[in-house]
Amino acid sequence: METDIIVSGFKQSIEMHNLRYKRYLGDGDSSVFMNIRQAYYDNVNSYKLVEKIECKNHAVRCLNKNMRLLLRQTEYPLPQRRSLESKINEIGKYCVYAIEGAKEASSHVGVGMLRVALRNCLEHVYGCHDKCQVYLCKNGTIVVPTKYKKNDKALPKANATSVQYRLLKDTALWKEIEKHLTRLVTLSDSLIHGQTTNRAECFQGHMAKLTQGKRKNVNYRGAYQKKKNQAILASKYGSGWSAPFIKMCEGKSP
Ligand SMILES: [Zn+2]
Repeated sequence: METDIIVSGFKQSIEMHNLRYKRYLGDGDSSVFMNIRQAYYDNVNSYKLVEKIECKNHAVRCLNKNMRLLLRQTEYPLPQRRSLESKINEIGKYCVYAIEGAKEASSHVGVGMLRVALRNCLEHVYGCHDKCQVYLCKNGTIVVPTKYKKNDKALPKANATSVQYRLLKDTALWKEIEKHLTRLVTLSDSLIHGQTTNRAECFQGHMAKLTQGKRKNVNYRGAYQKKKNQAILASKYGSGWSAPFIKMCEGKSP
């Protein structure tokens, strides 16, 4: 049902706005996208297929989730799992920096460089910088993108000859982590845009709050439309938008 609503929205775009959506920004759910992809397709014009851009937050979150699942799998030796546990935050942060760094330096960093950087994640985190990309790692120190500079300190430098590196390199656990990283690498084409679904989720959050889920019927006398407008204003100007708005209209504070 959810898919039908979204596809119907896509199909009406030409009639309502005289435009065709070229790209769709979504999370890892591919079942919805398979229907959206062919919303305008007429078996003749392949350029009418909708492209998908993956949300970078969902992609990295999925990687983190899979790595945390590996920590619970007892077929991998405990010292190796402990080593991964100590580096798990660093791996996630490295991927976020790689994606954001590539977006910020898009004039000279292409998809190929992002792909190499993501593939090299484990080597960098465990202190081997032979294949590190210049835009992301300088002499073993990660380059923090401007967006994260204020709040973040540089990640600690690891040593290639460290016990942890020798303990984990080329083991079954190492290969399993690389497998999950490969999934992220395959998404490089869309990750380079550095887009997220935050705005949609913020709107959805306000919408759920205002309509109170399914507890209250807000379908009569245009109430749903009003709630939707309130949610749009709240997601755009913050939840305190109504006070200055009323003051502007009525000349006094509510
Ligand atoms: Zn490095």
